[in-house]
This record gives sequence, structure tokens and C-alpha cells, in this order.
Amino acid sequence: MRIVRFSPAAADPNLDLGQDPLFGLLNDDDTIAVIAGDPLYAGIAPTGKAVPLSQVRLLAPVLPRSKVVCIGKNYADHAKEMGGEVPTEPVIFLKPNTSVIGPGDTIVWPAMSDRVDHEAELAIVIGRICKDVPKERYADVIFGYTLGNDVTARDLQKKDGQWTRAKGFDTFCPLGPWIDTHFQPGDQAITATLNGEVKQSGKLSDMIFDIPTIINFVSRVMTLLPGDVILTGTPAGIGPMPEKSTVTVAIEGLGALTNKVSNHG
Ligand code: ZN
Repeated sequence: MRIVRFSPAAADPNLDLGQDPLFGLLNDDDTIAVIAGDPLYAGIAPTGKAVPLSQVRLLAPVLPRSKVVCIGKNYADHAKEMGGEVPTEPVIFLKPNTSVIGPGDTIVWPAMSDRVDHEAELAIVIGRICKDVPKERYADVIFGYTLGNDVTARDLQKKDGQWTRAKGFDTFCPLGPWIDTHFQPGDQAITATLNGEVKQSGKLSDMIFDIPTIINFVSRVMTLLPGDVILTGTPAGIGPMPEKSTVTVAIEGLGALTNKVSNHG
């Protein structure tokens, strides 16, 4: 199932879809079957109403109430291009939930930075409260997967020595366009494309720490809550996004997430 969160901006008002934002299931014919409430908490209960995808604006499919956890240097070739060793245990950091934006939204270039990079990543959406999750139970706590762009002010990352500012600006965490509840990470291709040119390219199977290891490791540090998101690291090929560029993160079998970059702030 592909779950979307949307605003019925242009939808026929006679449809009376209910409160904005809404959630729905995306059908193969590009209609959305509206569901009642937030599926993370209320389960998946179709209301019987439907709306064409073309009449709505998709939002980030999840708005984390708590946190976005990120795994740094989780692809060997990326660790190498950052000039570091391959880590022996996962390197984790946080992005604030206020950095989340949806598909089609604009990444706003902060005035403090002169270099804003893309990082294509697979995003895990947590479905239940959990702590100390054994590796073999990892699937029990995952609601689904979506795509993420761990946007980074690379100059500030180097300057600060830690990553909170560089990774934490508003709009620096595009997520979407949907949560796929059936996706199974394997050897699917992951790419970042900038103005039509492929910049990052890898396979999900190139991750140093796999999904069970990530869930186990992070949940041994902090309690995970429904709607928390874990970004699982990025392959080699990171680089700057020029003003007004268009960036697309794509994962084979999962989807594509496209955003634009603003002018330099
Ligand atoms: Zn990253």
C-alpha cells in the first residue's frame, strides 16, 4: 500500500473530503482513496471517498512528532569520499522535525551557507513505540518506507565540527512522496539526479549497517515513537545544488522525490 498525506487544495469542494490535511491510499489509477484519521494511530479505515491525485497537493507523508534520526557514513564509498574510515558501529545524529518538507516543496538556501548539498536516502517510518528492539524483530516496528533527502550545508558541517546547524535548517529534510508499507529493501538502485544529471548512484544492499542493525542500534540508544523517521545514509556522489536547481531522489520500486532549491539566501 502507498499511503499519502495531502491537502485537497484544488479538489472539488462538493467532495466534502473532511479536514485538511488528509490521508489516503494511492491507487494504481492515480486516484486516492481517503482514509479516516492518521493511519499511524488510527489504522487504515477507508471513508469510501476518493479524489484524483491531480487535484491535490501531496505533503510529507509523515510529520514526525518527535525526531528524525540519521545514520552517517553508511555506504563505504561515501565514507571514503568524506575522507574518513568506514565506521565500526553506526554514526547517528538528529535532524529536527521542523526541517521536514514534502514533495514539490522548496529547499530554502540559508544565508549562513555557501554550499547546500543533496544526500539521497532511504527513510524508515517507525510504526510503534519501541526500545531495545532485537534484530530479528525489526520488521515489527516499521510502518513503511519513504524517500528522504538529507540536505546538508556542507561548509557549515566542516566549520562546526558537529552537524546540528548544517543538517538542521528548516526545509532540509524533504520526505515523500508516499509511505510504501510493502517495500522490502534489497539490492534496489538509489540515485540522486540534479537538473536531469545523475550525481549519486548506489544500491541499498551497499549499506554497511543493514536495516535490522540500524533499528536495533538506534532503539538501544533512544525510545522510538510512531512517526519517527530514520534516514539510512547516502551513497557516494554527494555534491552542491546550485540556485534554482531541481533535485530528485529515486529508489527503484519505491518512488521518486523531487524538490527545487531557492536562490541563495
Ligand atoms: Zn545523510
